[in-house]
Amino acid sequence: MNNLTLLQYFEWYLPSNQLLWQRAVREAKDIHKMGFNAVWLPPAFKGQDTDNVGYGVYDLYDLGEFKQKGSIATKYGTRREYQAAIKAFQRYGIKVFADIVLNNRIGGDETEVVRVIEQEWDNRLQQVGDIYEIEAWTKYNFPGRKGKYSDFTWNSAYFNGIDWDERGKKSGIYLFEGKQWDSKVGQEKANYDYLMGADVDLHNPKVREEMLRWGEWYLATTGVDGFRLDATKHIGSDFYSWWLTQLRQKTGQELPTVGEYWSNDMGELGKYLQRTGNQFWLFDVPLHFNLFKASRSGDQFPMNKILDNSLLQSFPDRAVTFVDNHDTQPSQGLDSWVDGWFKTMAYALILLRGEGTPCVFWGDLFGIPHDNIGVVPGLKALLKIREFFAKGKLHDYFDHEHIIGFTREGSETYPDSGVVVLMSNSKGGEKEMYVNRKFAGVRYIDVIGTNKHIVTVDENGNGKFSVGNGTVSVYVSEFAAKQLFVNGISTRG
Ligand code: CA
Repeated sequence: MNNLTLLQYFEWYLPSNQLLWQRAVREAKDIHKMGFNAVWLPPAFKGQDTDNVGYGVYDLYDLGEFKQKGSIATKYGTRREYQAAIKAFQRYGIKVFADIVLNNRIGGDETEVVRVIEQEWDNRLQQVGDIYEIEAWTKYNFPGRKGKYSDFTWNSAYFNGIDWDERGKKSGIYLFEGKQWDSKVGQEKANYDYLMGADVDLHNPKVREEMLRWGEWYLATTGVDGFRLDATKHIGSDFYSWWLTQLRQKTGQELPTVGEYWSNDMGELGKYLQRTGNQFWLFDVPLHFNLFKASRSGDQFPMNKILDNSLLQSFPDRAVTFVDNHDTQPSQGLDSWVDGWFKTMAYALILLRGEGTPCVFWGDLFGIPHDNIGVVPGLKALLKIREFFAKGKLHDYFDHEHIIGFTREGSETYPDSGVVVLMSNSKGGEKEMYVNRKFAGVRYIDVIGTNKHIVTVDENGNGKFSVGNGTVSVYVSEFAAKQLFVNGISTRG
C-alpha cells in the first residue's frame, strides 16, 4: 500500500448544501486523472446539527437516512449519495478511506442525573471538591431511527465524563462516579482522555461489542477500503489495535488505516506506533510543524533540517505526510497554516521523494473561498510528476542551510522518468547533482520554477542545476516535459 497518493476530500468551510457526495460522483474521474488513487472522505455520520463538519457525532448508524437533528441528509448528503460516491471513486481505482470518530458523542436526546467528580481543566487527575450531582446529556435513544440496524441506546454507564452540567449551566471536566480516565492516552493536561462531548468508555465490554458490530455493519453498508481514525490521542492505545484486528479477521480485508495522533513529539509518536503494534500508519505531524515553521521564518529556517525529527525520517513506511488539513487551516482548532510562498516547496518534498504516503489537502488543490486562499501553484503538475517521473533511486543534497535538493534516477518501468528538485528559502543558486549516467546528453527542463532553465546532463550523469530566490525548481527530461504540456498540465498555474 506504499504507492498511494491520498486526497483529503474536504475542508472545514465547505458550504452546508448537502451536495459533497453528489459532487464526488461527478468528479471521481477527474480526481483519478489528477493522479490520486485514494481519498479520505469526511465523517459521514449524523452530527449534532446539519452544519456539523462530522466530528460532533450524534448517531453512527445514521449516514443521512433518518430525520434526526433537523434533516435526513448530513452536511454532505444522504446515505444513498454517500454509497454512490464511494462506488464512483472505486470505479476509477481510487481507494476510499472513511473518517472514523469513536471518542465522543454530542447532541444527546435526554439528560440524566449523574454523580460526578469534577476535575481541574488543566489537570484531569486533580479532583475539585467533593462528589456531586449534575444533569448530563447522556441519553441517546435515536427516536428518529427507531432501532433500525441496532437497538443499542446509550446512557451514562457507557461514558466516562462530560463537560456540561445542564442543571447548573456550568462547564467543567466532569468524571462520572465509578469511572476512570483511560491511562493509555496522551499525557497533556495530566491525562488527555477527555476531548469533547460525552467521552465514550471504550473499556466497557458492551460498548466494545457494539463498536465492533457497528464496524462490521459500516463496512458491509458502505464498502469503504480503509480508515482514518480521529483523535487517537484521546483513546486508549489498545482500543484501535483490537478493533482493527477483529475487523480484519472478520472481513478478510486489508483495511489500510491512518491514525490522527496530534503530537509534534517524535518520541511520543514512536511509542504510540510500538504500543499499537504497527497496525496502522500515522499522520506526520512533526513534519507538518517543520514545514509550518519554515514557512513562517523567511530565510531563517535551516532547510537542511526540514525533515529532522519527522515520522518520514524515522518510520517512512508508517508516515502519512501532509502539508495542511481541516484542523490546521486558518481559524481552526490547530491553526498552523503553511504560508503560501512555501507551499509548492512543501508539496515537492512530500510528493516527489517516494517516501511515506502523501495526503494532499482539498484547500490546497481547490482553494478555500472562506479565507480567500487560492490553489497551490504547480500542485497539479507535481502530482503528474509524482505519478510518472519521480521514480527510481533517491539522492539527497541536504548540504546547505538554504539551498537543498534531491534527485531520482528514474526507473525502467516508467519511460522518461527521473527528476531533479532544488529549492531555496533565501537567495537562489546552483548545485551540481547526479541524475543518471544513462541520461548523458539529455536536456532537463525546469517545469515549476520561474527561471525556465535548461540543463544538459554531462557524461558522468551530473548536471549543474539552478533555482531562483525563495522558490523551488523541478526539472524533468525534455521528453517528460513535453508529455506534461501535451496533457494540458499548467506547470505554473
Ligand atoms: Ca476519550
